Amino acid sequence: MIHITLPDGAVKKVPEGTTPMEVAKSISEGLARNVISAKFNDTTVETVTPLKENGTLTLYTWKDDEGKKAFWHSTSHVVAQALEELYPGIKLTIGPAIENGFYYDVDFGDQSISEKDFPKIEKKALEIARGKHDYNMRSVSKADALSYYKEQGNEYKVELIENLDDGTITFCDHSTFTDLCRGGHIPNTGIIKAIKLLSVAGAYWRGDENNTQLTRVYGISFPKQKELTEYLQLLEEAKKRDHRKLGKELELFTFSQKVGQGLPLWLPNGAALRERLEQFLKKAQKKAGYEMVVTPHIGQKELYVTSGHYAKYGEDSFQPIHTPKEDEEFLLKPMNCPHHCEIYNSHPFSYKDLPKRYAEFGTVYRYEQSGELHGLTRVRGFTQDDAHIFCTTEQLNDEFKNVIDLTLYVLNSLGFEDFTAQVSVRDLENPDKYIGNTDDWEKAEQAIINAAEEKCLNYVVESGEAAFYGPKLDFMIKDALGRNWQLGTIQVDYNLPKRFDLTYKGSDNELHRPVMIHRAPFGSMERFVALLLEHTGGNFPLWLIPTQAIVLPVSEKHEKYAEKVLNSLENHEIRALIDKRNETVGKKIREAELKKIPFMIIVGEQEEESATISVRRHGGEDLGSLSVDAFSDLVTTEINSTLKSF
Ligand SMILES: [Zn+2]
Ligand SMILES: [Zn+2]
Repeated sequence: MIHITLPDGAVKKVPEGTTPMEVAKSISEGLARNVISAKFNDTTVETVTPLKENGTLTLYTWKDDEGKKAFWHSTSHVVAQALEELYPGIKLTIGPAIENGFYYDVDFGDQSISEKDFPKIEKKALEIARGKHDYNMRSVSKADALSYYKEQGNEYKVELIENLDDGTITFCDHSTFTDLCRGGHIPNTGIIKAIKLLSVAGAYWRGDENNTQLTRVYGISFPKQKELTEYLQLLEEAKKRDHRKLGKELELFTFSQKVGQGLPLWLPNGAALRERLEQFLKKAQKKAGYEMVVTPHIGQKELYVTSGHYAKYGEDSFQPIHTPKEDEEFLLKPMNCPHHCEIYNSHPFSYKDLPKRYAEFGTVYRYEQSGELHGLTRVRGFTQDDAHIFCTTEQLNDEFKNVIDLTLYVLNSLGFEDFTAQVSVRDLENPDKYIGNTDDWEKAEQAIINAAEEKCLNYVVESGEAAFYGPKLDFMIKDALGRNWQLGTIQVDYNLPKRFDLTYKGSDNELHRPVMIHRAPFGSMERFVALLLEHTGGNFPLWLIPTQAIVLPVSEKHEKYAEKVLNSLENHEIRALIDKRNETVGKKIREAELKKIPFMIIVGEQEEESATISVRRHGGEDLGSLSVDAFSDLVTTEINSTLKSF
């Protein structure tokens, strides 16, 4: 008999050779029906792998990420089989599961496929799936594995096998199909009820552009047709909300090949939006005790050698700027921190002065590969809502609480309700990986966990995820489409204070080293605006949107009255525009709708006579005729419901 420990701590005594599926059955038939993959002692196993020793078993269903991974990877085998049957002679390479679905990289040789071919491939793959074939893993000797693929003329698999050790090589068979595979499959193909291929793209073998270009086929699959339908609707909605598309429609930002890739140009509307976001944060930061600083976009190379950023970014980033003076080199700043350290260093501080909190909307430059650039989310120049706090270890807890409060205020004001936090701490088994002393680390980690606890955050603690220079807390945001975005890092740093020899005078009159905290609630203005666009679909909160209302005179006759209305709106501090073009009101409304302006103020004969305005909400709701005062009250009420004071 062997002892199988389940995640809840329960221990089952079962005969040696019992499979995970049999363990599931012994718990309940219902569980057995839903189990699709398993892990034994942290190793992925098949649900039919005989268990031969004592250990911990985790069973996964479709609801678990591990379950989805097995499901999608198993589907990639089925799709590969369909491709082989439809395109004889192709060479398969690798087919892993990814965050959403799977891909398979294929050398199509003289053949090729496009999206037009998807339906027939999906049909074929589904036919195979319906055959309810089991996935059977078997060990193969290196010699046999090599000869199998040499016979097929598949140099890719041969290369993969050559890098494997004899005794570790396994094949997976299902139906008439065999693939080199490490394992991690669902019980049989019959569980796959819906398969959709999503796109094809070029991909170099092993990601190296000197190698053959393969065709990467992306797909996704589900245990229910309904789930696929819902997923495709979500994709459709995500396309509509793509920040690159909305950014163009709302005239927020643009890119110019002449200026350079990955360098966003903010248009007047976008600049106004950014300005409002900055003002919002500046106001809250002031109340939270931050002081604004301004530092240059470049710094001497030595500065970044001292900070260690040159070692990290130097080689692969923008190269030093040379001046007419020999040996003088400057770098575009990849981080604001070194500059802020030098601001701290410009003045002697005592423990009574701490914490010092320096904030800056600092623009930094990092060279991202052109293939990695993506709208505003991956750029080469971006502005961080950066701040650095210099404090004592004893102050860490309060400072974390302070930053958590600020971050929560920012998220709540912008309509993000679904978020979690991750506290990253040391890997206690590898203490040498970290700089700073153990006592400080312990205190810092405890301070962060206590702060998360006291602020009632929904958080998890991840061991081994801390940076070498300090523990941290990250916020993970779920947007309106259920996608995760990481932002709002709060990072403790023992490294830079040492590198820059930062000190303060303690109550004992001795010099001590302060702790540094890096924090940025938005992350960067660019990425945050992208997230905000995709989360809201461009319908920004009323307090933030640069144009809250647009006045639409019905005809030229009513222009004077329209201007009077505009003036009155402005006196009520409502940000409004007027559309005096010689167009029909219908057309003006349609355009205002596309620009996602929250209120359309229509004025004509009737409104002028009764000294009122007719108000239409974005989306079509008719709010009827109101006085400007009543409308202003309505706007104020809505703003106050989302934007509280900090
Ligand atoms: Zn496999
Ligand atoms: Zn920093």
